[in-house]
Amino acid sequence: MATKYIFFTGGVVSSVGKGVTAAAIGRLLKERGFKVAVQKLDPYINVDPGTMSPYQHGEVYVLDDGAETDLDLGHYERFIDIRLSRVCNVTTGQVYAEVIGKERRGDYLGGTIQVIPHITNEIKRRISLVGKETGAEIVLVEVGGTVGDIEGQPFLESLRQLRSELGRDNTLYIHVTWLPYIGATGELKTKPTQHSVRELRSIGITPDMIVARSDYPVDPGLRDKIALFCDVDKRAVIPMVTTQVLYEVPLLLEKEEVGEYILERLGLQPKRKPDWHEWQQLVQKITKPKPVIKIALVGKYVELQDAYMSVREALKHAAINSGVELDLRWIHSVELEKGRGWDQMRDVNGILVPGGFGSRGIEGKIQAISHARTERIPYLGLCLGMQLMVVEFARFVLQDEKVNSTEFDQNTPHPVIDLMPDQQKITDLGGTMRLGLYPCQLVPGTIAAGAYGVELVHERHRHRFEFKNAYRKVLQEHGMRFSGISPDGQLVEIAELSDHPFMLGTQFHPEFLSRPNRPHPLFLSFIQAAAKHAGVQINSRG
Ligand code: GLN
Repeated sequence: MATKYIFFTGGVVSSVGKGVTAAAIGRLLKERGFKVAVQKLDPYINVDPGTMSPYQHGEVYVLDDGAETDLDLGHYERFIDIRLSRVCNVTTGQVYAEVIGKERRGDYLGGTIQVIPHITNEIKRRISLVGKETGAEIVLVEVGGTVGDIEGQPFLESLRQLRSELGRDNTLYIHVTWLPYIGATGELKTKPTQHSVRELRSIGITPDMIVARSDYPVDPGLRDKIALFCDVDKRAVIPMVTTQVLYEVPLLLEKEEVGEYILERLGLQPKRKPDWHEWQQLVQKITKPKPVIKIALVGKYVELQDAYMSVREALKHAAINSGVELDLRWIHSVELEKGRGWDQMRDVNGILVPGGFGSRGIEGKIQAISHARTERIPYLGLCLGMQLMVVEFARFVLQDEKVNSTEFDQNTPHPVIDLMPDQQKITDLGGTMRLGLYPCQLVPGTIAAGAYGVELVHERHRHRFEFKNAYRKVLQEHGMRFSGISPDGQLVEIAELSDHPFMLGTQFHPEFLSRPNRPHPLFLSFIQAAAKHAGVQINSRG
């Protein structure tokens, strides 16, 4: 069968959950037996988000092959339970770099290079790679931003061309909009949706389905009105009311028969009946009252929770599956340095320090780690959180406050964390870290080995610095165990303390591989240790 394409555009405002919608629709199709893949087209000019500040962009999501991508790819992987690859995130920067590279090599034989056809051809080529590389039968393509953005135009033009090239049966356009609520009259308004559809049509794209996001229930009259003004079937106007439970979205879309409609329009027969049993159970577990455990997430981007999207989701997955309610406290590490925010920290059952770069807030994180170690509070350190756990412990063991990572102090007498040798000569910042999936050998009898229950694991990385082996012996003598090591014995991937209920750090990012129904083993062990700290009897099946 020819690859089928579903294109997602956004209207009215951004950040209304277009990524989650695409991810959930991907799940509906997978449940009907189809192999799906999802691609995000990001109109910004950066080559990838790897060099962008988390304040600008949110989390940088890392794939198996080391691609640094948009956080929507995290939604796709988690909702659909798939593993995506580099071809699934395209930016204007990548497209232009490719075309300009070809032009410099003379590949265009003297032609004038233009947005149409050269840029749009390159965009279409990249869209077609997804099906070829993943073998997906249905490829979902989400365009970042909203209709009307200048940077988005070449992408939308490419999608427009694809309908005539691939045919109506092989393409479907879904427009995700927002219905504002006017408090004074108590009404939801469809006008902005009408305008954004008009804008979309003016560039030649007629949506086949409209997903209308709203904070309030949408009455049938409003659906009819959208259908009439925007020229879509009534069945294809899908109100999507904000839900407290993210993982309920596929169930809500299922109720609206979105899967049936899409397959009908694409001329496909479902290969099997969807089985939502597991999802329904998941949502039930989430909504059921449970004993609360308090976790402090100590970071420096806590004002923007999107910066720690996968960490938050992985904590939730572990909590749901352990039958506990997560009270997640976002603690600013810079505040801790100023002596503020400690009241929030005193009664927590677990402390987590996630990944990060640069020296701001480092000492606050180290203070939080020290608190976890001395008060015997369960601790999980991710990447930077592992490096700082080593720094804190080494300061204690060597009785020297100057112990540090050379990322923060080039002249430290004890560089327990140092630049990896192959990073020394690198000058370009983009895409040059140790990125993606690497194997890690677990040491039998450790907390890590117990959590995973296997000997060899593969986890995703994103770092330049690493543990300095010269310090292995002295730290080991004082109770630090290196429970995960690269198979060549060179790199410390997991460190833990033997004389502590649960104090463990990973050089990699386990949060990227957690799934709602399959929490990551290390997150699960951390949450279970936190539950124990809280005196909560846990039921490992939730
Ligand atoms: N800044 C540290 C490094 O580059 C940690 C990176 C991270 O936490 N992702 O090694």
